[in-house]
Amino acid sequence: MSTIQENILQIREQIKEFALLSNRKPEDITLLAVSKTKPISDIQEAYDAGQRIFGESYIQEAAQKIEYFRSAGHSDIKWHFIGPIQSNKTKTIAENFDVVQSLDRIKIAKRLNEQRPENLRPLEVLIQVNISNEPQKSGISIAELPALIAEVHNCPRLILKGFMGIATDTTDSQKISKEFNILYEIFKEAKITYPQIDILSMGMSGDLGQAITAGSTMVRIGSAIFGARNYPNKGIPTS
Ligand SMILES: *Cc1c(COP(=O)(O)O)cnc(C)c1O
Repeated sequence: MSTIQENILQIREQIKEFALLSNRKPEDITLLAVSKTKPISDIQEAYDAGQRIFGESYIQEAAQKIEYFRSAGHSDIKWHFIGPIQSNKTKTIAENFDVVQSLDRIKIAKRLNEQRPENLRPLEVLIQVNISNEPQKSGISIAELPALIAEVHNCPRLILKGFMGIATDTTDSQKISKEFNILYEIFKEAKITYPQIDILSMGMSGDLGQAITAGSTMVRIGSAIFGARNYPNKGIPTS
């Protein structure tokens, strides 16, 4: 068995353990494999291990991978866009992805709505909320969130499926849990008005336990599956 396959089995086992510890059903938590910066061969290994949901952050790189797997006949893969969204990239995102997790501006919602091709199902979106309150981080502020929710609700080519958050990168595990709890409350509250909402995307390689305890329904795991990235948060790999 390859390392990637072993890692996936191990993460699935961890998800199960954390779920049971917090009296949750393991099958209520989806594993998103974050394959940004990683080669097609790594995605293929994960696919062979049964993984079908992948997250990408760099649009050109992602478009190439999506094209590769579509032409290879693997149309059962769901592609999630999880990176910061520039206005000039919305068309490629609207044309290629199944889900966008990093929506954080009204302007981007409008563009994705206009550019989602008619022959595809409406684009599923999660709104990224800035739960760490670090001004340089992506995500809409909690104060501005209601207006963005209302905008997405009025976009016929978008479906609001939930929220995504990234906790502060810290060893202070109480701070992380507090941030995840805030997003869980937002999720729970929004579900009352918008019953189609069913995804709460929080938890990465370093904090999936706290995320699951706080109610996450989707963990986004990169390095714990594919190993460390050579290009942590920027740049497009050339190979
Ligand atoms: C890169 C990335 C991840 C994966 O992070 P790991 O720590 O490698 O698991 C998850 N979510 C987002 C939004 C990312 O950009």
